[in-house]
Amino acid sequence: MPATPAWPPSSLPRLYVADELAPDGLVTLEGQSGNYLGAVLRLGPGDRVKLFDDKTGEWLADIVDAGKKRVVLRIGQKLREREAVPDLWLVFAPIKRGRIDWIAEKASELGVARLVPVLTHRTIVDRINTDRLLAHMIEAAEQCERTALPSLDVPRKLDRLLADWPADRSLLFADEHGGTPLAQAAGTGPAAILIGPEGGFTPEERESIRAVPQAVPVSLGRRILRADTAAVAAVSVWMAAAGDWDRHGDR
Ligand code: SAH
Repeated sequence: MPATPAWPPSSLPRLYVADELAPDGLVTLEGQSGNYLGAVLRLGPGDRVKLFDDKTGEWLADIVDAGKKRVVLRIGQKLREREAVPDLWLVFAPIKRGRIDWIAEKASELGVARLVPVLTHRTIVDRINTDRLLAHMIEAAEQCERTALPSLDVPRKLDRLLADWPADRSLLFADEHGGTPLAQAAGTGPAAILIGPEGGFTPEERESIRAVPQAVPVSLGRRILRADTAAVAAVSVWMAAAGDWDRHGDR
């Protein structure tokens, strides 16, 4: 018996749009997205794509007008609601270009809810390029069928972050000097994973983090990892231990 083809075919181009999508609405894509559909894929009226907005979910859309760099689409049927992601923040010290891009991309694929850049004593990068990081997050979400993107905070100093730490959120502090194995410390409530910069935290910073009542020092094993590896490994272990990976196929 021939397999029933999935409809719509998953090979349809899939793009993020910043505007909120609504049935029968018109969306104009210019810039990179418009160029991709019009000039690279050479799509025109009658062709279909999938759009998602990180707010309402994923929709089918028909191209109604197309130029080389500007494509107009009419929103059709809703395909999926916005997915639920676990209530996990990734708090990380900005690191150099390339490595920080990789963290943003992987956080988007893994389904982190919020990215919180934090400035520490040994942070060597004190500004982040928000647009570039967002572009990496969006590209990963487009390719991996995400309907949600992590939100991205502006960088904040560590002492400010700790002073305002929410009472109901555990702060899983990845401490290369040791702590509870992360798989055992991950609960199911709101959580954040805190990863230090390449140079690690200073002894004073480790003290102030440990002084936060919601902080739990956690270990990622006996090998020291680079900050980017530590971030992605920690998020993965947390997701598995918190039960997020027990469900499959209910996208
Ligand atoms: N070169 C630094 C190590 C920093 S590793 C030093 O020697 O101090 C960068 C960050 O990754 C650390 O601050 C920590 O948050 C996290 N990390 C790396 N390996 C870890 C491990 N085995 N357990 C817990 N956290 C770890």
